[in-house]
Amino acid sequence: MKPFPRALAAVTLVIAIGAFASDQTPTVDWNTVAKIREEGLQRSQVMDITGYIVDVLGARLTNSEDMKRAQAWVRGKMEQIGLENVVIEPFMDYGVTWDNDYFSLHMLEPDYQPMTGFPLTHTPGTPGKVACPAVVAELQTKADLAKFKGKLKGAAVLATPPLAISQASLAQGVARLTDEDLKKLQENVVPPPPRPTPPPPNPDLLKPEEKIAFFKAEGAVAVLQCEGGRPGVVVGFARPGTKDDKWSREKSLGSLPIVVVTPEHYNRMYRILKRGLAVKIEVEIRNRLGEIVEKAANVLGEIPGTDLKDEVVMIGAHFDSWHASPNASDDAAGCAVALEAVRILKAIGAKPRRTIRVALWGGEEQGIYGSQEYVRKHFGNPKEPKNPPTPDYEKFSAYFNQDYGAGQFRGIYLQGNEHARRLFAAWMEPFRDIGLTAISIQSVGSTDHVAFDAAGLPGFQFIQDRIAGTAGHTNLDFLDTLSAEDLMKNAVVEAAFAYQAAIADERVPRKLLK
Ligand SMILES: [Zn+2]
Repeated sequence: MKPFPRALAAVTLVIAIGAFASDQTPTVDWNTVAKIREEGLQRSQVMDITGYIVDVLGARLTNSEDMKRAQAWVRGKMEQIGLENVVIEPFMDYGVTWDNDYFSLHMLEPDYQPMTGFPLTHTPGTPGKVACPAVVAELQTKADLAKFKGKLKGAAVLATPPLAISQASLAQGVARLTDEDLKKLQENVVPPPPRPTPPPPNPDLLKPEEKIAFFKAEGAVAVLQCEGGRPGVVVGFARPGTKDDKWSREKSLGSLPIVVVTPEHYNRMYRILKRGLAVKIEVEIRNRLGEIVEKAANVLGEIPGTDLKDEVVMIGAHFDSWHASPNASDDAAGCAVALEAVRILKAIGAKPRRTIRVALWGGEEQGIYGSQEYVRKHFGNPKEPKNPPTPDYEKFSAYFNQDYGAGQFRGIYLQGNEHARRLFAAWMEPFRDIGLTAISIQSVGSTDHVAFDAAGLPGFQFIQDRIAGTAGHTNLDFLDTLSAEDLMKNAVVEAAFAYQAAIADERVPRKLLK
């Protein structure tokens, strides 16, 4: 019976806050929420959807052939769910496609060892199988270049220092947010001070792209590096400079094969070389690059509204991922939750007043490009004279996103929008029993709700448990570390939030545009 006093307190709070924000207490459609819970918790398909994305489709690098195949599947899935106006919508010129078709890396001497790693995106492959010596060349400043002149020809360069493995990041099991954590989040009502501006970069330090250019000029055959320092984990992104050269085919082919290697294997080679002994490796990489610049795309679909169908509520997540694994938690899970949420609403025959639109974004990992360009095109931004607000700007209600891993929703961040508290407190009531209790005024960043928030549109990210797993951007983000129960709960919460926002008397109120 413990939940009762808390529930009562929350209702009182809703009424008290409601008194200053609006005269009406937000209504909760308990009947539809019951149907959502029944469909989503007793007949869930969220793991089937997640499993297909992770196991069958795999990694989804923005503007890769892999991504195009996955987006074609999503379009079919949306149509199968019964969504309307399903579209793969291009958003920006995005260089050439890049896909890795084959990778192998071995230490041959002084001892045989197959090695774990993968190439950075937008790098070239090797000319077949290459056996070569490994050489340490850690460059920091321009003065370091002279030391390695003439010494790297035909070698694979170990370009970064060895990384100690952090004992603290060994798998810890499931660590959920405690009541104390949630209390702190809620009590934290004052925004943090702005971050100090970083000092200008030291002009003597070599930029990553300058190091690669030097290795290339010296005739090295490949660059090996190590990032992250977590056991068994390989972390790695794109060739340095890709954003500036717009994922260019020429720049990619003119670079060197760059391989990130798991710390255990990288450190082993490094230590042997530091003993003055030779290391010989074998590497083979086959990458496929497109011939022409193509547009990256988002995939969208709708449940059209009824009497307020021109007004829109959106839910979504980023469908693109880095390329070393299917990135189950970043963000196949968020995409599956959004798809399952609209599936639930269709399955129960929900008739939202406003249109509910689901968006699976591209280009998030490179800079939130897909959602940003979408907001620009469809809604505009009062702060950008080139992109004035469109007629749809006023008709927009809110966007809800999942992208802080695959853990359970425990509440929501208001993103500094105190006016939304009253509605969200009411909509959370039916999920108090499954731990959705916290409302934090704090603004959070780094994912697609920011694109809406930056344009003055209500965009929100849920507070999530950080459950075990390697998290995204690694070679080890697979289905096995996801919790089905968490994702089932998230899908019903997201479905209910979308539905409540779509039937409410008012659109989600906005904060002052700064
Ligand atoms: Zn993500």
